[in-house]
Amino acid sequence: MKPQNETTIILQSRSCNESYARAAAAAFFAQLDPTVEELCDIRTAVSEAVTNAIVHGYQEGLGPVRITARIYEGRRIAITVKDQGCGIPDIQKAMEPLFTTSPDGERSGLGFSVMQSFMDSVKVRSAPGKGTTVRMERQLQGKEFHE
Ligand code: ATP
Ligand code: MG
Repeated sequence: MKPQNETTIILQSRSCNESYARAAAAAFFAQLDPTVEELCDIRTAVSEAVTNAIVHGYQEGLGPVRITARIYEGRRIAITVKDQGCGIPDIQKAMEPLFTTSPDGERSGLGFSVMQSFMDSVKVRSAPGKGTTVRMERQLQGKEFHE
């Protein structure tokens, strides 16, 4: 289905750009007048996906992270976060709660679980050496529920 509105931003994979990414997504979706909770969920999900692109996709290197936010009819939204980093060899395993490839114990392996609990659907496409695309969708509440 064709989106009613969309925007794309491309960031360099620096962790200082995470807050920009989540604020930009929230600012774009503000036109739908979402609830505070919905906005908070969106910010968190975007933050997890962008962090993964930066930390895992590019590891120590630098590369582009492309974030597209779309609005469809009926207050449905979608966000894709795409990197051209190392890719994920086993997507199903990577999405299991507590699975992490981070060796230093700094990560808890819950990023995908957080995205799944805050969004209605999370789909991952990835190829080793080529990169990863995460697409997240959510149906926002009708305005009549919170006016
Ligand atoms: P946390 O998000 O809790 O800090 P984490 O990032 O390890 O820990 P997830 O976000 O659930 O946990 O990701 C699980 C694993 O999937 C990662 O450890 C990594 O191996 C892989 N992964 C996720 N996103 C990417 C990506 N964009 N590129 C390459 N690998 C990825
Ligand atoms: Mg993560």
